[in-house]
Amino acid sequence: MIYFDNAATTQPHKDVLDSFVKVNESVYFNPNSPHKMGLQAEKILLQAKERINNFLSPTQQYDVIFTSGATESNNIALKGIAYRKKQFANEIITSVLEHPSVLEVMRHLEEEGFILKYVDVTEDGQIDMEHLASLMTDKVGLVTCMYVNNIMGQIQPIEQIVELLKEYPKAHIHVDAVQALGKIPMKIQGVNSLSFSGHKFNGLKGQGLLLIDNKEKLEPIMHGGGQEYGLRSGTVNLAMNVSLVKAIALALDNLGERHRRLSSFNKELRTFFENYKGIYINSPENGAPQILNIAFSGVKGEVLVNAFSKLDIMVSTTSACSSKRGKLNEVLLAMDIREDKIEGSIRLSLGDTTTAQDIESFKKKFEIIYSEVKELLK
Ligand code: PMP
Repeated sequence: MIYFDNAATTQPHKDVLDSFVKVNESVYFNPNSPHKMGLQAEKILLQAKERINNFLSPTQQYDVIFTSGATESNNIALKGIAYRKKQFANEIITSVLEHPSVLEVMRHLEEEGFILKYVDVTEDGQIDMEHLASLMTDKVGLVTCMYVNNIMGQIQPIEQIVELLKEYPKAHIHVDAVQALGKIPMKIQGVNSLSFSGHKFNGLKGQGLLLIDNKEKLEPIMHGGGQEYGLRSGTVNLAMNVSLVKAIALALDNLGERHRRLSSFNKELRTFFENYKGIYINSPENGAPQILNIAFSGVKGEVLVNAFSKLDIMVSTTSACSSKRGKLNEVLLAMDIREDKIEGSIRLSLGDTTTAQDIESFKKKFEIIYSEVKELLK
């Protein structure tokens, strides 16, 4: 099998699984229990949080909230911030590029009376900084922007946004960094909150993280036993959280090497596709190396995904979350990509398990698919 769907999820690393099992075997206690074993579990939980800060942000300490994934982190952060600011800063800025776990929260907040503004997107999929500046007012309480787009791979100018927002002290900047961790060097200084999901970097499904510069800024959106500073009630899953730290350590430890390897695969595939008439590259050249979105103009993405799947190659249409929705993808529409190139787009996403052999086999099998569809290509 050639697995080119790593942006949907990745294979868990053995060390992460081992860590999960080990903690479950030896420290299965509840960190909120008052006895000796509970205190031991609590100590390990606090150490895990400290290590996360050391790995991700040694110069700016964040409050660390463990969640079940980025969907939950985005919900806790975006609603939590918005509700706190409703009375004095009820404008929110986002873009159509965001993942549904942000966009659907935005739509929900709009229904609740917040004023939602969408920032324009340039042709290469970047936030239009001039437009963003023109949307800023003293009423803006929240700006949310992803770091790396999950469909096209473009990287957003987070540092520039942080710089712009310095003039607007009421505006909180939230970054969905799900597709960035372990793939590109992140610069998060000055970002107020960030979301991550472990399974995107060889961790486990169910491992999520929210970093926030000050937990007091959040209104809780769920209520219960008060764990995680009252922001994410529910018995703490220590083994999940400790093994997430392992996944982060592995992702950052190999970052330079991984970046070089994936960039070289990405480049090789780009050069390969250039030889084929009717195949277009949608992803910008300066994007994150693990994502390559290509279009077969004139053939539907779903048909292609099935054709690849029959040859044991796993790819995705726009993104696993929206693949089944069957409408034109808004991210690609926003980037002014022609409709036929949107309909015929597929995403190849590489990862730690991708080998040079995979790339070679892919190229060979691609010939078979190309010969089947080439008469249809525009
Ligand atoms: N944000 C982005 C950019 C994503 O790619 C994803 C996962 N597709 C999420 C958020 C949500 O992550 P999860 O499904 O793990 O909650």
